[in-house]
Amino acid sequence: MTTQVTSTHAYYFSAAHRLHSFQLNDDVNRKMFGKCNNPNGHGHNYTVLVTVDEEANASSDTLWDRKALDRLVHERIVARFDHQHLNYDQAFSHGLTTTGENLARIVWEILVEEIPDGRLQKVGVIETRDNYFEYIGNT
Ligand SMILES: [Zn+2]
Repeated sequence: MTTQVTSTHAYYFSAAHRLHSFQLNDDVNRKMFGKCNNPNGHGHNYTVLVTVDEEANASSDTLWDRKALDRLVHERIVARFDHQHLNYDQAFSHGLTTTGENLARIVWEILVEEIPDGRLQKVGVIETRDNYFEYIGNT
């Protein structure tokens, strides 16, 4: 049996968004997303949970520690999304709906390029107290 030790670190940002699919007409959008389709948008205090493989640290020459992860997530995720309107971010402005699922995937795609040796295991996004999304890509 193989074991794996991971650690998960939490980061926070606040952002606005509007759930709206450009593939659907306004009526269907209103029905599907309800008040989250409000044209003026609304805000969330997002929590991003980043899970990394800790065992890789022991078997690699690449220096990668918690400080490096903190710096990376603050520079590439928090600084980019905090106090922004997600619908206008370049990741979403071409028509991708700003769901928690898509946000988790976007965060994964940004971080996986920067975190060495397949150590990124999972990205989770808490949008509200009732909604949690996670993405586990191919590492
Ligand atoms: Zn929302």
